[in-house]
Amino acid sequence: MVSALVCVALVSGCAQIVSGIPTTLGSYSTTEVAGLPAANGPSGPKTGAPDAPLKVDGTDNGEIDELARNAIADVDAYWAEAFPEVASGKEFQPVKRLVSYDSNAPGRPLCGKNTSHLVNAFYCPPEDLVAWDRGKLLPELESNFGPMAVVTVLAHEMGHAVQNRAGTAKPNDPVIVLEQQADCFTGSYFRHVAEGNSQYFRVSTGTGLNEVMSVLNYIRDSPDVSNFTGGNAHGTAFDRVSAFQYGFSEGPERCAKMDFADVTERTTLFQNWKPAQNETELPIDDKSIEAVTTSLHEVFRDTGAPEPEVTTEPISCRGRQKTAPADYCPATNTISLDLSALREIAQPPSKDSDSTGYGDFAAYAQIASRYALAVQQSAGFELDGEAAGLRTACMVGAWSGLLVEDPIGQRNPVGKLRVLPDDIDEGVSALLGDESLIAANARGEQVPVGFARVEAFRVGVQDGLSPCTTKYEG
Ligand SMILES: [Zn+2]
Repeated sequence: MVSALVCVALVSGCAQIVSGIPTTLGSYSTTEVAGLPAANGPSGPKTGAPDAPLKVDGTDNGEIDELARNAIADVDAYWAEAFPEVASGKEFQPVKRLVSYDSNAPGRPLCGKNTSHLVNAFYCPPEDLVAWDRGKLLPELESNFGPMAVVTVLAHEMGHAVQNRAGTAKPNDPVIVLEQQADCFTGSYFRHVAEGNSQYFRVSTGTGLNEVMSVLNYIRDSPDVSNFTGGNAHGTAFDRVSAFQYGFSEGPERCAKMDFADVTERTTLFQNWKPAQNETELPIDDKSIEAVTTSLHEVFRDTGAPEPEVTTEPISCRGRQKTAPADYCPATNTISLDLSALREIAQPPSKDSDSTGYGDFAAYAQIASRYALAVQQSAGFELDGEAAGLRTACMVGAWSGLLVEDPIGQRNPVGKLRVLPDDIDEGVSALLGDESLIAANARGEQVPVGFARVEAFRVGVQDGLSPCTTKYEG
């Protein structure tokens, strides 16, 4: 994955984003996920659930197809209840045909394509069918992320069937609008599962939803192959996870309202992204750290917080446990960095190596997280609780959002450091991982629930700094 921090000419002043987009309703809670109890219980197929009696053309009657069939039946049952709300009272009709194929086998025609090497799952509007590759795609998803990954992808495809039936998208809407709606409908279905209303599956609001969001992260668009108006635009990880969260938190009505204007204002996919000539992946060195520190000074200047000192020397901070790869000492207002640990995080992620990295921006976000603690200390907030972790994620999001020169949202970036949507996605990936300071308090304790971590970060990216202290008080 290409990652870049791009420096371009400073064109704007210090305007803050005020997008006016409502974020999740209500205030925060560290024991709840959008109103449901936060828990790390089991996720996956329920034992003893019957096999769904759905007809699947081409099936080999293997385990993957059984899982897929049950997923479709479960999503059908959800939409039988929820569909009338988004379709002016109309009843939901299941799709006309379900097709399983093996992309490794000799191809056959399906929806104007050939199934040979077609590693995909899709909804085909003209034939009203949902099809999936049982040979490669679904087994890979299952082995990487567990069975709920298969359910996620099929719930998304059924989301397209729903929008087609309900007419929630307009014929000339760009693909990204359709995709955002489908991810959002996936989120609303998963709420039904998380509430315990599914016959076939269960998902925990902690690790369970984390895995589902990791699937969306995995199948994100890379902005160097996709752009906002592109015919294949599914959204960045930030966009996809955001849409899922809207559906989960606010229900299918929110998804139905996703239109061109809403999606344009909210998403991070660039309109005409071209690999910039001066694009670079910044190494973790003194020069980059200075650029990042300057950018943090600029973004947080209006808060009036005294600028913390940033050093690569180890510091002693009496009575406090150190955190890595960055450490904040409240008594001296100093941030100490562990460069080799930061370099590990800055390594680009790779499916083929044992790289534990997320990319350069994920490393810089760790520094920003400790800077956010300095800002919180100056404002009189407590630094060791869970709310501190959420405020931190929100402030790192606000900082990140103010570095994107977004030709769609017409943001006014602050300072000279610039990031690309890919960089924001590195932050999302790190937040979905186990060890990151982006949503951690001064003790380095990460907010336990991934959904809450990502949500707080998203609030900051979208709405800037002010909700970070008002929404996450305490
Ligand atoms: Zn789709």
